[in-house]
Amino acid sequence: MADFFSTDIKFLKGVGEARGKMLEKELGIRTFRDLLYYFPFRHIDRSRIYRISELTEDMPMVQIVGRFISFQIEGEGAKRRLNGIFTDGQRMMECVWFSKVDAIKDAYRPGVDYMIFGKPNLYRSVFSISHPEVSLFDPERPPMGFMGVYTVTDSMRRRGYSSRLLSGLVKNLLSNQRFAELPSVLPSEITERYRLMPLRDALVQMHSPDSPELLSKARERLKFEELFYLQMHILRFSRERGRRIKGLFFPTIGKYFNDYYFNCIPFELTGAQKRVLREIRDDMRTGRQMNRLLQGDVGSGKTMVGFMSMLMAIDNGYQAALMAPTEILATQHFETISEWGRQIGLRVELLTGSVRSRKRREIDEGLRNGEINILIGTHALIEDSVAFDRLGLVVIDEQHRFGVAQRAKMWKKNSVVPHVLVMTATPIPRTLAMTVYGDLDVSVIDELPPGRKPIETLMRYDENRSEVNRLIHRELEAGRQIYIVYPLIQENEKLELKSVVEGKERIMGLFPEVEVCMVHGRMKPDEKDYQMERFVSGQARILVATTVIEVGVNVPNASVMVIENAERFGLSQLHQLRGRVGRGSDKSYCILMTKYKIGSDTRKRLSIMTETTDGFLISEADMKLRGPGDMEGTQQSGLAIDLKIANLTSDGQILNIARDAAERVLNAHPELVAGEVSASDRTGEKLPLSTASLQTISRELNFRFSRSVDWSQIS
Ligand code: ADP
Ligand code: MG
Repeated sequence: MADFFSTDIKFLKGVGEARGKMLEKELGIRTFRDLLYYFPFRHIDRSRIYRISELTEDMPMVQIVGRFISFQIEGEGAKRRLNGIFTDGQRMMECVWFSKVDAIKDAYRPGVDYMIFGKPNLYRSVFSISHPEVSLFDPERPPMGFMGVYTVTDSMRRRGYSSRLLSGLVKNLLSNQRFAELPSVLPSEITERYRLMPLRDALVQMHSPDSPELLSKARERLKFEELFYLQMHILRFSRERGRRIKGLFFPTIGKYFNDYYFNCIPFELTGAQKRVLREIRDDMRTGRQMNRLLQGDVGSGKTMVGFMSMLMAIDNGYQAALMAPTEILATQHFETISEWGRQIGLRVELLTGSVRSRKRREIDEGLRNGEINILIGTHALIEDSVAFDRLGLVVIDEQHRFGVAQRAKMWKKNSVVPHVLVMTATPIPRTLAMTVYGDLDVSVIDELPPGRKPIETLMRYDENRSEVNRLIHRELEAGRQIYIVYPLIQENEKLELKSVVEGKERIMGLFPEVEVCMVHGRMKPDEKDYQMERFVSGQARILVATTVIEVGVNVPNASVMVIENAERFGLSQLHQLRGRVGRGSDKSYCILMTKYKIGSDTRKRLSIMTETTDGFLISEADMKLRGPGDMEGTQQSGLAIDLKIANLTSDGQILNIARDAAERVLNAHPELVAGEVSASDRTGEKLPLSTASLQTISRELNFRFSRSVDWSQIS
């Protein structure tokens, strides 16, 4: 017989074959464990019975005891409904049904005590509940307490199954004799050390809590459990990689680095840039392969850090590559970096999809014979036909467009895996980055180069358009360039196109003396590149675009960013867009245009933009408002993060503790990492476990992450 957890759900009292199939198909519940971990999305208080006189309009579901006085059918056809007058002995209220009218009318008898349950609404000073849950009132029966409300699918609902089915089944399961056989999920060493509620209690409290306090304790325990295993999985992955993959050893800081640093660098590095370069250098001389995420707000100077890291590789006799998500970005990087490289005698080449075959042959040769020091490009770089002599470092700009799989492909390019530096402007709080990017170490540039003129951010209503136009006019006169951005309208591409095209025409009418170009999502890539290029070169002075405008595009002469329908954008997106201006030495403006009528929530959200330019603050605010699921980058993390109860944004504290526990366990038990057991070089805190506990951990890891890492992919 299967253990309690893995028992087929059809064997539960009240389920059977047919319902078992339905539960699996509709809710993915196949076993006892699945049902126990199918948590209610909220709880309702059925611990007390209300009087009608106590009701208020804003109450959630309440229960009231009383009798039906009379029933009356009103309306015809589709509008037919049943009105029941209900009294608790003092006051009266109504119950309303819009379906099954005749059956219900005869089902409830006068003179009998019923308990009704539902959400009270107030209409013409009479309270009513539509489609209340009605049951015979039994004064002997103890009150139900707090009850879970469960999600069911529409298809279940159509077949007459509601949250009630689930609460009934959970009740049967919790009172099953074998519930006592629950296997342990967290080792006792951990539950004791971190003072966590026992699993049995936690599950009972999750489904039908005795009090809000116990419910929150239960949640804490289950979140910990979930995050602990997630961290174990991630840490195991990165430690295993560290063991399996030998990294290149770059002991030297040499000629190129020093020459550039002491003789050519056009500015003093910021403290943060220096610190990050030290972190990178330390990585490269451990002999382990570097996998580092470099986070830095727009304009924080990541490119220079990337370039100087490349010099470290070159100084040690290796080549470096930089991969950008689009041709325009690759070209911009090429222009910057080939100029920097030229000063110290490096050969830098650009490889994109549009490089002609003769040039392509030249590049291939230069790569093979090692004459090319730095290759910059798009996806073309990871084509199998591109072969380096000795590739030592790959820098990837704007990570979120390259998933883990692509990184793995890059690694395959060499017999020894090159170091990898991923640069991103998507500011993710550290705890989240740790999980989303899992196996990457994180460096942060948290300081902007000095002398930046702050960007002035303004909120303006459509009614103030003429003021905005005057500002644009003034900036154009001063020789500057302007971005005007429209939101993507996914539900309605036609409407989206219409708004950009109309916007462009309006702008051309207002500023006939300058050239205007336009970029939107329905253009062919060639046409898009051509239009972008007109703006980048300065030929076009105003760019009207949907959000397709490239993440890293650098036009220092642009000083105004107008964002139309700003309320439709997420904060992080607004921040990215704003980062397109303020790159030159002139004062810049970001103008958030909205309709006059926006809700106070929207106004509050947008006003965060006017208050701060700190990308981390903005991203934190954004995540609190939207949840991390929407964050750019989380989908492509390559990790199956399917959290049932924990929330990576709001549970940062539990996440940190869970990380700590996982680290201690792995420090004490390096054998949990696959591959040979080697004497651990880690000297951190340890949390040794009994053999039984280790078995628990192995079993849980297998259960939760059965799709294990495919090492053939990357080594
Ligand atoms: P991002 O991090 O957004 O990629 P960039 O690398 O494009 O930023 O840098 C933005 C601008 O700041 C560039 O013009 C770059 O030359 C300049 N810059 C970078 N570091 C410094 C510094 N330490 N002092 C002054 N300017 C700098
Ligand atoms: Mg950049």
